[in-house]
Amino acid sequence: MTKPTPGRIEVITGPMFSGKSEELIRRLKRARIARQRVACYKPDIDLRYHRSSIASHSSQTHEAHTVTNAERLREALFPQLHEVDVIGVDEAQFFDEAIIPLSVELVHLGKRVVMAGLDTTFNAEPFGPIPALMAIADEVTKLSAVCMVCGQPAIHTQRLGQSQELVVVGAAGLYEARCRSHFQPYLDEHNSEQLELPTIQPI
Ligand SMILES: [Zn+2]
Repeated sequence: MTKPTPGRIEVITGPMFSGKSEELIRRLKRARIARQRVACYKPDIDLRYHRSSIASHSSQTHEAHTVTNAERLREALFPQLHEVDVIGVDEAQFFDEAIIPLSVELVHLGKRVVMAGLDTTFNAEPFGPIPALMAIADEVTKLSAVCMVCGQPAIHTQRLGQSQELVVVGAAGLYEARCRSHFQPYLDEHNSEQLELPTIQPI
């Protein structure tokens, strides 16, 4: 059997509100227009908007299978792998480290793997497997959002309100994009895992 031509790994990253999911959806839609077969996955920790699709803040959606970890992603994907050209992964920061060798395996099987995820936590620390995925990717697209204080490009996700300090009016008010000058690390010793997800309602 001849070895397949290697595919490519693409990582779309940046803070919240930088349009990562929107860019992922755009690439997947273009692949479908090119008659490539697309499969999309997301961790089941993401309860934003829909259980069976990925969604951007600008209400673009794309069908997605929910899986609990990288091993489940593999189990869901491999039986139908011969029918798939492009694999999309949203909220990739919530996957375990096994997503890294899985991506390498897929790219050597000739697949195009497009992953979107936060590069840093609310403490501005590298987030889960994203830094390693950026390192092994063929292409990294780092998007910025807009600082909600000054309007400059924002690379940070600001978690707002330490517990009861702030009256939370809808979950949409829990996070903001911030530039370096206006970012303050969210330090919560009770939730250092930072696995809490936004539950933003579509507008
Ligand atoms: Zn700013």
